[in-house]
Amino acid sequence: MHAQQQVDILIRGGTVVDGTGSQPRRADVGIRGDRITFVGNAATSRIAGKQTIDATGLVVAPGFIDSHTHTEGDLSKPATKANLAYLMQGVTTVVTNNDGGGPVDIGALVDRWTRNGIGTNAAVYIGQGSVRGAVLGMSAAAPTPAQLDSMRALVARGMDQGAIGMSTGLYYAPGSYATTDEVIELAKVAAAKGGLYDTHMRDESSYTIGLIGAVNETIRIGREAHIPLHISHIKALGTDVWGQSDSVIKLMNAARASGVTIAACQYPYTASGTSVGASLLPRWAEAGGRDSLRARIADPETRARLVKEMTENMRRRGGANTLLITATRDSSIRGKRLDEIARERHTTPIEAAIQIIQAGGASVASFNMNEKDIERFMVDPYIVTCSDGSEGHPRKYGTFPKLFHEYVFTKHILTLPRAVQRSSSETAKILGLRDRGELAPGYFADVVAFDPKTFADRATYERPTLLAVGVKDLLVNGVVTVENGRYNGMTAGRVLRH
Ligand SMILES: [Zn+2]
Repeated sequence: MHAQQQVDILIRGGTVVDGTGSQPRRADVGIRGDRITFVGNAATSRIAGKQTIDATGLVVAPGFIDSHTHTEGDLSKPATKANLAYLMQGVTTVVTNNDGGGPVDIGALVDRWTRNGIGTNAAVYIGQGSVRGAVLGMSAAAPTPAQLDSMRALVARGMDQGAIGMSTGLYYAPGSYATTDEVIELAKVAAAKGGLYDTHMRDESSYTIGLIGAVNETIRIGREAHIPLHISHIKALGTDVWGQSDSVIKLMNAARASGVTIAACQYPYTASGTSVGASLLPRWAEAGGRDSLRARIADPETRARLVKEMTENMRRRGGANTLLITATRDSSIRGKRLDEIARERHTTPIEAAIQIIQAGGASVASFNMNEKDIERFMVDPYIVTCSDGSEGHPRKYGTFPKLFHEYVFTKHILTLPRAVQRSSSETAKILGLRDRGELAPGYFADVVAFDPKTFADRATYERPTLLAVGVKDLLVNGVVTVENGRYNGMTAGRVLRH
């Protein structure tokens, strides 16, 4: 019998779900410094811990990885850099600058986080919309060769400064003004530097090229730029495309069979989160920026065309009753649906929407998905978990616990090992994050211990910022960050590069 070995932290007696998809097993987890050094029976292997965490009755899993968030602002501010909304969900790594957004200066962002500390690990994209905005502003014009070169250079610099790839938000202005060919040219730059392509697709509904058309566009970008693909928050948005989840998955499978690397992520809510303007305005109306939009609204002829297209966009999303105002400066409309606001103002929902946009806009929860499509996407082996967390939508505080509470423990749509896998190791593989997402010796000690009986989301559309419950202990890079269900003030997160 060999001598007793010491580890810094020993998590004892839990049910280990290691992230690989393997069955749960009773095991202890040993940690030295920032790495896992042992998974097994500590007593028979004579492993002792300087510090012991009792995980009896808890599920011990790799800390969750969220491939699509909007945490760049939170991580940059002293009051919110701990990223508590995510820590309390068991998330230890977030990706941000999705949807083509975020700052173009990745270096400054990475430096700030490294200097000030962050609660979770974070990885970033260089956003194509921001890059286009930096070079062409809100113009819908095609770039000149020199402008295209400027955009290429910004993508290259972003990758050199630590981005894991390029994100696009081809639904949003100004990213939407790029043709497929323009996007391919920039994706080639990210590909050459080992990055991946993350996209909020040009259309998740029937706005322009349609959901199927947008999946085909994404696949073409992957094929021609030789870049791995990650479709963000995959969904069938609106009744026109309900039921197309099967066709989307078939397209993805066919692309994979032909050599394209393609995956996606999803949040478990029937409402998406966006703004009144982004959901209802046609993109041509936003070309040139806010002043141009105001001028178009003021011009009777253009306004008539605008109202017509906005009416169609509202129908597509399910009508005025499906748009719930969540975050806005005007507290008199917060928590109300667009039809209710229109009634109060004795006007039509579209006129009310135009008033809201003119007054500075508002965030909405847009109820536009159906449960069948959500479940069809959820069980696909190439679709992982992401929150797309944004102000006013409960997904920012509830995505991961909701997945477990509702889809694993209540509806049994996913098994526990698969839910963990699609929230950790599968995501790490897609994103190219080395040594993350599994409980195995050699991996970074990002670990969550949660109580399967109580792990649940509390955030609702009415109260979207209620922290989740049930995470008992959480370690980030080997540092205990949540102790007995309470955040202890540590900021042990790191910036993760490709
Ligand atoms: Zn998005």
